Amino acid sequence: MHILCPSTYGFWRGVSDEGSCKGAARIANMLFDEEWTGWLPIYAWAIEHEEGVIVVDVGETSRVHQTGYFPSWHPFYRRATKFSVHPDEEIGPQLKALGISPRDVSQVVITHLHTDHAGGLVHLTDARFWVSEQEFKRASGIGGQIQGYLPQRWPRWWEPSFIRFDHGPFGPFEKSMSLTKKGDVLIIPTPGHTPHHVSLVVRGSPSLFIAGDTSYNQQLLIEGKVDGVSPIEAVARQTLAQISALSKETPIVYLPSHDPESQSRLLNCSILKMA
Ligand SMILES: [Zn+2]
Repeated sequence: MHILCPSTYGFWRGVSDEGSCKGAARIANMLFDEEWTGWLPIYAWAIEHEEGVIVVDVGETSRVHQTGYFPSWHPFYRRATKFSVHPDEEIGPQLKALGISPRDVSQVVITHLHTDHAGGLVHLTDARFWVSEQEFKRASGIGGQIQGYLPQRWPRWWEPSFIRFDHGPFGPFEKSMSLTKKGDVLIIPTPGHTPHHVSLVVRGSPSLFIAGDTSYNQQLLIEGKVDGVSPIEAVARQTLAQISALSKETPIVYLPSHDPESQSRLLNCSILKMA
């Protein structure tokens, strides 16, 4: 089994998560803080497993640059984010550049349905998609649009399968789902950034922790800082504590979607060391 270099496609510019981490202040900071982060990557991941290629998240589409692609009425898109995505940076061309035909992808896991993780669905027409049922419900319809999701942009044919956590506990995590017969690629619940966010663990030595948005980067995990998007701070904090506990049980490489260091951490197998 190989895990390939993450596909880098597109960059996301979010407002700074520094400053106060408390409740409403976290969210206010995200919308009104004039201090922007630098451009951040949007990583996706391809696992070349003998049972088939597994992709985690599908990144963003270059259609973000079309007028009206994002709802102009939504404060998040007006104030808290900017994107830069070239057509070659979408998941389809990125997989091809790695020598993987999108048709060879057998399974796709979406950590959560925010647009920068689900904007490239259209490229993977032959795969089975795995999504949390509750996340799917939260993101659907007008309610989803108010929450900042873009269900109106999902392809009409798109019909995900729902994750079933039937594989028992994994380390400090109460439940998991295996994507392989071997049990070496697991989906685990990591609520926080969204209430039903999931992450992926590729077991090995070290194991790889494909984190989605559990924290925007490794340093924020180490400092236990919760981002401005998480609706319930205590839930996000609990997940960060579980990841920390896992790292003390077994060596892991921590790979958040927007951490500019994730790619080199994967290439160098840099183990997460909590204080
Ligand atoms: Zn997100």
